[in-house]
Amino acid sequence: MAYLTLKNLNKIYPNGFHAVHNFNLEIEKGEFIVFVGSSGCGKSTTLRMIAGLEDISSGEFLIDGKRANELGPRQREVAMVFQSYALYPQMTVYDNLAFSLTLQGVDEDVIEQRVEKTAKILGLTEYLDRLPRALSGGQRQRVAVGRAIIRKVGIFLMDEPLSNLDAKQRVTMRSEITQIHKEIGATTIYVTHDQTEAMTMADRIVVMKDGYIQQVGTPHELYFDPANVFVAGFIGEPPMNFIKDTVKNGSISFGDQKIDLTAKLGDRLKSYEGKEIYFGFRPESILLGEEADSYHISCNVELTEMLGDNTNVYVTAGQEQAILKVDPHDTPAMDAQIVFSIPYKNVYLFDGETEAVIK
Ligand code: ADP
Ligand code: MG
Repeated sequence: MAYLTLKNLNKIYPNGFHAVHNFNLEIEKGEFIVFVGSSGCGKSTTLRMIAGLEDISSGEFLIDGKRANELGPRQREVAMVFQSYALYPQMTVYDNLAFSLTLQGVDEDVIEQRVEKTAKILGLTEYLDRLPRALSGGQRQRVAVGRAIIRKVGIFLMDEPLSNLDAKQRVTMRSEITQIHKEIGATTIYVTHDQTEAMTMADRIVVMKDGYIQQVGTPHELYFDPANVFVAGFIGEPPMNFIKDTVKNGSISFGDQKIDLTAKLGDRLKSYEGKEIYFGFRPESILLGEEADSYHISCNVELTEMLGDNTNVYVTAGQEQAILKVDPHDTPAMDAQIVFSIPYKNVYLFDGETEAVIK
């Protein structure tokens, strides 16, 4: 049986706003789950229902198979890290870390051992006597994480814990949190709007939009098998290119060029004749020049962005635009006319109406 079960969870706020719709998920012990989606999609609301900070309007939340809807936050044995670190400003790092254990009446010497161990894991040993205001943002965030892990609870909830850090600190803390998770093994639910954080940290990702789950899967599954246009466009940077067009005689247009879909859709194409379809391909899954078993597209280079390990090439063909990711050594000249190939196997097709993937 799953460790945490979220069964048809709904949240309707007192003002009538339906923020989370029929949320279903089973989480195994020790998993690192990431909720990802744009601001306002219901990530924090769902997390707060799990934490016991927000009432569940309908549906059931089970911990170890037992209904937990009515349990308060303390009874649920969860530790939460918020975006604002919520440290006690007048207490030293040591006291911030020790506080929850002191409240529980844990012995002083046990507290000392646990604080020392936690400080060591997080590289805070030399800062134990400092007040939070004498720490950098990254160090404060470490104290906040430390305060959560010191409690040794089974469920660890984090709501955008890295969003107040600069880009470099975020990358460092990202791998530190993953490392800590490996060491302590607590079941973790981590909320972010950043797809890179989701992809690099998660065992499984839950992609949300407008209060609905769009897809649940491993980073690999979401990248290679997106269920719909939203997931395909959300996961990956730069995002997947889409051409939306009506299928005519088995083809769609890319600018003034025809893309014959017969190779990709075969028999299923018949039901799409006269209907709209999305043709998707990732910037990094193209090849420059004319390759075999591929669509060949002629286009004009509008702009190139040299990023070091690759170059983003912005191209247009008639009214259509696309981004291509190429090896920096192959960067084309601005305004050049080029041909690129999209291997058939790298093409994704989605229903123009439902936006669901066409397998
Ligand atoms: P996220 O964390 O994904 O950015 P939230 O869960 O905070 O999103 O919010 C989801 C939606 O619910 C938003 O549209 C937000 O405005 C709304 N919302 C959040 N809290 C309340 C509240 N207390 N009352 C009414 N609506 C709320
Ligand atoms: Mg939020």
